[in-house]
Amino acid sequence: MSGHLLYIDITQICGIGCSFCMYADRHQTGAQLELSEHACENITRLVNHPEVKRVSISGEGEPLNNIKAFHAILGLSRGNVAFEFITSGFLPHDQLTKFFDETETMVIEHGDTCNVRLSSDSYHIEKMRHRPHGMSMQRSIAAPESPLTFSFRSVDTDRNFTRSYLLDEVANCPGKADIIEVSSLEDRLIVGDRVFNIDYKNHVHPSDETPASRLDLWEYIQAIESRTGKRFTLGSLNPAPLLNGLDLTIKPDGKVGLYGIDNITLGNIHTDHFSWESLARQVADDPLMHRLHTTPFLDVVARVDDQGAMYALALKANNPYWLVKELVKHPALLEQLASS
Ligand code: SF4
Repeated sequence: MSGHLLYIDITQICGIGCSFCMYADRHQTGAQLELSEHACENITRLVNHPEVKRVSISGEGEPLNNIKAFHAILGLSRGNVAFEFITSGFLPHDQLTKFFDETETMVIEHGDTCNVRLSSDSYHIEKMRHRPHGMSMQRSIAAPESPLTFSFRSVDTDRNFTRSYLLDEVANCPGKADIIEVSSLEDRLIVGDRVFNIDYKNHVHPSDETPASRLDLWEYIQAIESRTGKRFTLGSLNPAPLLNGLDLTIKPDGKVGLYGIDNITLGNIHTDHFSWESLARQVADDPLMHRLHTTPFLDVVARVDDQGAMYALALKANNPYWLVKELVKHPALLEQLASS
């Protein structure tokens, strides 16, 4: 396994209140990741391994509510690490500029890069008093060599909202702006000679009010397969001919697991010892984790006898990782996935 992904969810706190949020029940009394000495030793080992392709900082809340933890994690880098910070960017512009300045300084000092991925869908935008997109693009265009870069993400089923919103936001930037469709999951916003990526994801747990899905689960997985050039399994989604690495998540309370397979806790960052090598051995030894990392996901789904039940769960989850979470509530179906 190579090209691992490390997700660190640094907070459960958020006051924004997007209507689609999957973690809303945790926001008022949520946990913040605290970096104990033992956690720092583990994270240092994981972050600086040569087989890590990206370290994504996010949350089950808004990660700008725990900037201290993010900057502490940046401080653990020994250089050449590709960080990503996934955020709504909700802060007033003077505070957001200060955050960008401090982050850029740390990234330069350590010889790393950091891409800030800003939520750009209708659910977030309707809640934002201080919209960060235009000022972030202006900053990026003014400093083309900066290791602090920006991209956008959306869960809108209708891309027109995100496209027209970002074109409005870029109106004050120098250069002609245009949006080019790259695939069913990706656009590029071109501004003069600069390019900003826009990623689209399926809306998890769509409600009756959600507009009809642009892609159902099968079409969504086929779109991912077309982008990576190979069948989709859980893991770090490296493009062919590379194999996948692990997709590891550290939760705000320190629990460690593989993205999507949350029913299996691999330990706690504050008390256990973690290395990519020992994690790969754990995956090899566990029937469910091994199955989900080695058999194409659509073939895994087809192993279940009751395809009617599977189809209903797939419609509800609308996303492969969240489908596994749904299956955890149905042990008989889960057992069929893992059985040899
Ligand atoms: S900003 Fe993120 S964590 Fe906060 S309510 Fe919206 S989706 Fe949930």
